[in-house]
Amino acid sequence: LKILVVGNGGREHCLAWALARSEGVGRIWVAPGNGGTADEPKCANLAVSPLDFAALADFARSERVDLTVVGPEVPLAAGIVDHFQAAGLIIFGPTREGAQLEASKAWAKNLMHEAGVPTAAARSFTDIEAARAYVRELGAPLVVKADGLAAGKGVSVAMETAEALAALDELPRFGAAGASVLIEEFMAGEEASVLAFTDGKTIRAMVPAQDHKRVGEGDTGPNTGGMGAYAPTPLVDAALMRQIEERILAPTFTTLQKRGIDYRGVLYAGLMIGPDGSVRVVEFNCRLGDPETQVVLPLLETPLEEVLLATAQGSLDRVDLQWKPGAAACVVLAAAGYPGDYRQGDVITGLAEARAQGGLVFHSGTRREEDKILTAGGRILAVTALGDALESAIASAYQAVDCLAFKDVYYRRDIGWRALLARR
Ligand code: ATP
Repeated sequence: LKILVVGNGGREHCLAWALARSEGVGRIWVAPGNGGTADEPKCANLAVSPLDFAALADFARSERVDLTVVGPEVPLAAGIVDHFQAAGLIIFGPTREGAQLEASKAWAKNLMHEAGVPTAAARSFTDIEAARAYVRELGAPLVVKADGLAAGKGVSVAMETAEALAALDELPRFGAAGASVLIEEFMAGEEASVLAFTDGKTIRAMVPAQDHKRVGEGDTGPNTGGMGAYAPTPLVDAALMRQIEERILAPTFTTLQKRGIDYRGVLYAGLMIGPDGSVRVVEFNCRLGDPETQVVLPLLETPLEEVLLATAQGSLDRVDLQWKPGAAACVVLAAAGYPGDYRQGDVITGLAEARAQGGLVFHSGTRREEDKILTAGGRILAVTALGDALESAIASAYQAVDCLAFKDVYYRRDIGWRALLARR
């Protein structure tokens, strides 16, 4: 098979790596890819933007690509799948309409209400004065969310009313994504991510994961794209998983069907597990998570291309989704200063040594220059290791991390701390 992966992050490197392992896959292109995907066996980078649908589709047609897999949400929300489908090409991901689940928080809320899915109470506003009045009336803690896509930066969890009002003042920064705002009830608890493959007819959950969104140890400081992850998380046991499938995934899926949306790809539920064990939806995403992908896909036993093709083609019921025993942990190496300003262009050393330690080194913000790999982003590398149990997976991931270096590297040393604490 020939496969085109769209995107340039750690998630896409992990997709390319998992596909390259399969005997059934002959050739992979990643558009535009990064320093890691350039080095993966069977793999080549393609210098085309994820938003240049015409050029991507032309390439897929001329190279007779069997499947295109879309990593990030932005091309999905902009209709890449509609474009490919209209051209008769096979592509993994929801259409523009289905991607609303992530691209509009108000649309997603409305769907959750229709589906009877538990989530935080929320009201949507386009008039900022009305939003201000509502924030004053409700009082903190509460959450202010720009309606559209803002790369994780459009959400403010305000523990003080003044903070929520300041967040409203910041909305113009997000342009069209901030034209409408959601004021949401604050939910206490611990977060988990349950992702599922769906082909519009069948839905199959993946192993439950947890990621660390905050930049600082102890889950403190500003939100990031994700500083590490682990799976399966002991927070979601078999009984809770059943509840999530029955009360969240199934009704969401059925409501999408009722609305006539042929949703194919990944349905990602970001969940809040309350102190009383209750579970509510924080958000839906329409694609794989980063860095959740880097812990979930290495645990997948079934060849990935079979799952992705069946999802895109509506035959997921014929796939036996099998998972490896044990656990996976991932530590993200970032440039100091991230998620604020950071330097770029520094040489990364120790990549071969980290791999020799058994680490799977997925590149995020890197680029190749001659025989060197240089930093080229905020999140640079995501280092995954597998183990019989979470403890050993985490220890192995840090052993591999210890081999790696670049100027002003920053990473959290406490990935998985909540799970480890719960075990003691
Ligand atoms: P990302 O791209 O990082 O997934 P996003 O912009 O899609 O973020 P959300 O996932 O809705 O936004 O919110 C980001 C984070 O804010 C959540 O992961 C959670 O930590 C926090 N958060 C969001 N809504 C609530 C809520 N109602 N109560 C408590 N915390 C919340």
